[in-house]
Amino acid sequence: MLENEALQMIQKMNVKINGTEEIVKKFYETLESAKRAIKKGIEVHPLAALHDDKKGTLYTCSSCATRLRWGPNAARLTNYCHRCGQKIDWIGTPRE
Ligand SMILES: [Zn+2]
Repeated sequence: MLENEALQMIQKMNVKINGTEEIVKKFYETLESAKRAIKKGIEVHPLAALHDDKKGTLYTCSSCATRLRWGPNAARLTNYCHRCGQKIDWIGTPRE
């Protein structure tokens, strides 16, 4: 099952949990944690921002806005955001 499919399944789930308030709360916290983890594993394109004549384009993480890299070699240096762990998809990112 792909990450996208797993995420859709979790989002569509209509589950009733029996147990103490604490157990029910823990269950939903666990579900939210799983959804966040799955989303981090689904590749997203970086955002391109700021342009500098010498450095080129600054690419940032589209999940947390952390600066990933400047310029044309950005795609070769990082496949994951070093701050939040978001998987980065560089395909289609223009080479400078
Ligand atoms: Zn990030």
